[in-house]
Amino acid sequence: MKQLSLALVLFFSGSILFAQELQSPSQFLGYSVGAKYTRHHRVVEYFKSVAQAKPEIVKIEKYGETNEGRELLITIIASPENLKRLESIRHNNLSMAGVLKDNSAESIADAPAIVWLSYNVHGNETSSSEAAMLTLYTLVDPKNATSKEWLKNLIIIIDPCINPDGRDRYVNWFNSMVGMHANPEPLAREHVEPWPGGRSNHYNFDLNRDWAWQTQVESQQRLKKYNEWLPQVHVDYHEQGFDQPYYFAPAAEPYHELITQWQRDFQGLIGKSNASYFDKNGWLFFTKERFDLLYPSYGDTYPIYKGAIGMTFEQGGIRSGLAILNKNGDTLTLTDRVMHHYTTGLSTIETSAKNQQRLLKEFRQFYTDNKSGKIGDYKTYVFTSKDENKLLAVKKLLDQNGIESGTINNKKFIGYNYFSGKEESFVDEGLHLAVSSYQSNAVLAKVLLEPKTKLSDSNTYDITAWSIPFAYGIKTYAVKEKLDVNTDFKSASVITMQSANYGLLIPYTSLNAAKVLANLLKNNVKVRYTTLPFSYNGKEYDRGTLVVLKTSNASVNWSAIANEACQKYHIQPVAVETGLMDKGADFGSPDIRIINSAPKVALISGEQSSSLSAGEIWQFFDQQLDYPVTLVNATDLGRFNLKNYQVLIVPDGTYKTLTDKTTTDKLKDFVKSGGKLIAIESAADQLAGADWGIKLKEDKTEDKNEYAALKKFADQERTALTGSIPGAIYKVELDNTHPLAFGYPDFYYTLKRDSNIYEFMKEGWNVGVLKKEGYITGFSGVKVKSKLKDGTVLGVQPIGAGSVVYMADNLMFRQFWENGKLLFCNAVFLAGQ
Ligand SMILES: [Zn+2]
Repeated sequence: MKQLSLALVLFFSGSILFAQELQSPSQFLGYSVGAKYTRHHRVVEYFKSVAQAKPEIVKIEKYGETNEGRELLITIIASPENLKRLESIRHNNLSMAGVLKDNSAESIADAPAIVWLSYNVHGNETSSSEAAMLTLYTLVDPKNATSKEWLKNLIIIIDPCINPDGRDRYVNWFNSMVGMHANPEPLAREHVEPWPGGRSNHYNFDLNRDWAWQTQVESQQRLKKYNEWLPQVHVDYHEQGFDQPYYFAPAAEPYHELITQWQRDFQGLIGKSNASYFDKNGWLFFTKERFDLLYPSYGDTYPIYKGAIGMTFEQGGIRSGLAILNKNGDTLTLTDRVMHHYTTGLSTIETSAKNQQRLLKEFRQFYTDNKSGKIGDYKTYVFTSKDENKLLAVKKLLDQNGIESGTINNKKFIGYNYFSGKEESFVDEGLHLAVSSYQSNAVLAKVLLEPKTKLSDSNTYDITAWSIPFAYGIKTYAVKEKLDVNTDFKSASVITMQSANYGLLIPYTSLNAAKVLANLLKNNVKVRYTTLPFSYNGKEYDRGTLVVLKTSNASVNWSAIANEACQKYHIQPVAVETGLMDKGADFGSPDIRIINSAPKVALISGEQSSSLSAGEIWQFFDQQLDYPVTLVNATDLGRFNLKNYQVLIVPDGTYKTLTDKTTTDKLKDFVKSGGKLIAIESAADQLAGADWGIKLKEDKTEDKNEYAALKKFADQERTALTGSIPGAIYKVELDNTHPLAFGYPDFYYTLKRDSNIYEFMKEGWNVGVLKKEGYITGFSGVKVKSKLKDGTVLGVQPIGAGSVVYMADNLMFRQFWENGKLLFCNAVFLAGQ
């Protein structure tokens, strides 16, 4: 008892000691907002200090950490009454969306609407986190009667910084560059950020392309939180080039066809309100241009597909530091940028507060329409595969997005087969996964799964095709009939340990098998793989099947390591007790190749390489494959000892290095003496431009119209579109007898983002080619369509004892192009062995 009261005394005295007075950002920071950049931990500390000073209206929830260990959090601001019943408000909101087990209690009568403001997703678009502090202070300031009125109708959630690693990368760099006084000269050192810049996260991913795919820890943790709340309004804060004025809603065409009239209308209301404040101050802005609403993985579109009004606000400001001279002759300061973001934030809150009832009604209607099966012509989507890992990969993506999936009993139906492009009777490949469009997330399901996205305008900011069946390479049917989907999909197979005296077989049909291979090599197990099909014990095995034998592996516990890797990556190994096969090559045959040691892999990075492309590969090795990779700056290639490496990967980039004769000779020697060079996108194009043995196809189509040169000035954007391909899906025919394509059928769907294609190689293997009819879906300008025919997109060229692998497309685009990853692994481990 005595102890307890002492604890209580300590508790109370502690809370008195640490209770803080509410401070404005400038009181807390010691400088006025905009005078300096605030490092991320200070932004966090300010938010925490406000929560401590005003616990009756502010609550902080930590939702995770970044790769570099920085804190991710949201701050909830509500009236004292609402903060007390926060959980019931949240439940009620989710009930309106129908995503809870029991949605019966939902009511909009006394529910506040939820406005969520996300700041600084691009780390070097820095003004917004500064604005977030001012916005928070205004909302909680006891002298502010207006904000109290708003809080009667709203819950406001602020994420002060989505991308802390990127922000601090920029801020720390800038603070170390700037002198006593900011220099507005646009080319002053403080405005020229070094590679890779602060825009991206730790692995150089663009987090504003990752909302749906959730390949990054920041997105995974944030989306979990986001989907626990489902706000009615979401703003994503950005900056664009410093010569641009401010951009706010309404957005530009194209809009996805599922965007509702209300979602369009409310953008208009916000635009009017923002404009009135900007007009009062004489500030410039634009609306309805450039920023469209289509690609589903943005901070505006994703919330829209989840029933909110999602918007992007863009201040002019990238590179501008504390002050910069713009093309209008004005000096744009950080304070200006902060004030603009601050203004649109409050204007959005005000407009949302005024329209709270309508926001809730429309939000509920959105979900009612979702559940009623009104969304789209297809009522069910059915994936089918022999390989459970492929279905589990899709299931994971659907789960992350709250899209329900399961199994069907009725397998007699006709549907649109994505791969054949025809209506056909369903053919079960063995296992299946079904998605019904009678569900709360029918809109998002349709956006992600539909075979073709309808484009109201082809002038768009991003890729125009992302359909999951193509990206994941899984046979799928889109069915107009409503099929009953039981949400009981469970992983059927339990992987059992196999003890074998002679060896183990590991089927090679999904990315997981490549992960097993990487794991075995890393653990010094020698792995064989078959280059021809064979059968053992009455079962057929395809090319690429991994063979781990007792022989050659005397020095390691090969069986335990292989069994463990198979458990980890969910693949059933098969025990073999003899090297004699029923059919096909025996294990001693030269058609069974051996990988004697783990290849050492180097990846070109740094200046000249594309930070996104290098980052994707880095993250893939580091986080997914769990296999060592050495990152080397392109500028250090000349003095880098390639003799210690077997594989050199050159990601997309613009390489001076590849035009330098000494370096080129060095690379050729590396390949001739047994090395493998993997060149991706523009790196491959650059080799094609030099004399490496592959050539880019030229555009030979001639415009026969004699007035073709007479173009109308006003049509210039449209004319340019004929040669544009922002991202469309093409069918690549694969030679799957080549190790580069092991584990695949004889085709692969690629995301084409440029019109580059190579002439068929005469001295080498044209493993992936486009023939006449490769185009599947997405926008591809007429000139591009006519060019993307009869050429190679994946080639392997043997040179001396080594080889070069050319990849015209990015096989791991934004890491969501799941089906490219196995090809990439094949390039690293199998091709050119
Ligand atoms: Zn941005």
